[in-house]
Amino acid sequence: MAPLRPLPKRLIFISIDGLRPEFYLDSRYPTPHLQRLARQGLAARRSTPIYPSVTYPNHASYLTGTYSARHGILSNSIFSWEDCKRERWYFDHSHFKCPTLWDLAREAGLKTCSLRWPTSAGAPVDYLVPESFSLTPGRPQLDWMLTIQASHPAPYIESLLRQCGREAPDGHSGYDQWMTDALIFTLQKHQPDLSFLHLIQLDHVQHSAGREAPEVDQALRQTDNRIGELLEAIDLKTDCVIFAGDHGFSDFTARVNLNTLFHEQGWITLKEGKLEDWEVIAHNSCGQAAVYTKRPWLTGQILEILEAHSHGVYQILSAPKLSGLEAFPEAICAVDAAEGFSMGDGFTGELVTSIDQTRGEHGYLAQNQNLQGGFVAAGVGIPLKKIIDSMELIDIAPTLAELMHLPMPTAQGKSLFKAWEISGTTDTWAQPGLTQHPDGPETRDPAHPYTLHNG
Ligand SMILES: [Zn+2]
Repeated sequence: MAPLRPLPKRLIFISIDGLRPEFYLDSRYPTPHLQRLARQGLAARRSTPIYPSVTYPNHASYLTGTYSARHGILSNSIFSWEDCKRERWYFDHSHFKCPTLWDLAREAGLKTCSLRWPTSAGAPVDYLVPESFSLTPGRPQLDWMLTIQASHPAPYIESLLRQCGREAPDGHSGYDQWMTDALIFTLQKHQPDLSFLHLIQLDHVQHSAGREAPEVDQALRQTDNRIGELLEAIDLKTDCVIFAGDHGFSDFTARVNLNTLFHEQGWITLKEGKLEDWEVIAHNSCGQAAVYTKRPWLTGQILEILEAHSHGVYQILSAPKLSGLEAFPEAICAVDAAEGFSMGDGFTGELVTSIDQTRGEHGYLAQNQNLQGGFVAAGVGIPLKKIIDSMELIDIAPTLAELMHLPMPTAQGKSLFKAWEISGTTDTWAQPGLTQHPDGPETRDPAHPYTLHNG
């Protein structure tokens, strides 16, 4: 039996939504803390998300090490055969079809904390503030109330509200700051063995302004400041910290309204412009859609129509292809928008509609390099100064499990410890061919000093 690895006193796993590898590989991005961690610890050049490269399924994979058909979180929102007029998201932990790290940690008697993590409402977590919101834009008070209502235990939440603020946080940046403050408070006061935090600002700015907008730099600067605050509150001689990105981003300037094709065929019924009933429908999520039918004998015809209209604006992923990706087990196919396109919600009008400015999107097959996510780790149990050329996002959960000495036989991914052992130490960090940041010279905030030690 292999000797047990050094056990971190605390493992802190931070999902930076939309974290791309170049944000720490290219020194011209304003991320001094993350770059220093990546240089001194372990970093990946790319981490391939599962399909669809959408937030909720990939956050479920962080916890299970499995593909979406296995863990059951197929997309952000739930496709319902009975009632697809009402949008519901996979907010509840009860949607999981296989054990999560939280289940394993509880079984092993470890103390856990989770802040703003997708699919965590009702999770077996000791200190929990789940991601929950109303799905009606522009209702910040309601979103905050739903978040607090789903959080537990009550005395802990009361202490968080006292410490970090009672009012609804101001936008995505406000939420990230509140949750970072909450994590630091929880680490200091309750010493959880295993903590999870989901930061969202970087995802939102890339959606609204595109991959390379100035707002992305601003969000990176703020996110990196929060990383700095966290690093001051932990000790990498005894703790371990991991940052990961659930997907990258691709820019687009037009949308594909697949349901216009099905409406034209009479397969979708509208009432006052809104969906009333359907026989064939595309369930969109970001840059892709899963296609469902209540009339399986129409499948050949549906595929022919989709094929005839593809014109380089999307590719069709057949049911066998989806089966190989372990995604959308009940769909007849999925449609993946081509580079420069995303999915639109229109039922009538043009199949392809342009938008007024460049925006960012994900969800697509990760064969597009822009869709790759990031991974940076440092502290106890993590090798020093190593780079992983390529890894899979589903490898993260079994790696976390191995770090915390938790058995995870249900994972489909493989612990990264193997990859760390075979990849050599590198001191030629700056590699040619990396994306060059357009803003010119490196900018650095005064970095808080900290040292990395090998556990
Ligand atoms: Zn995401």
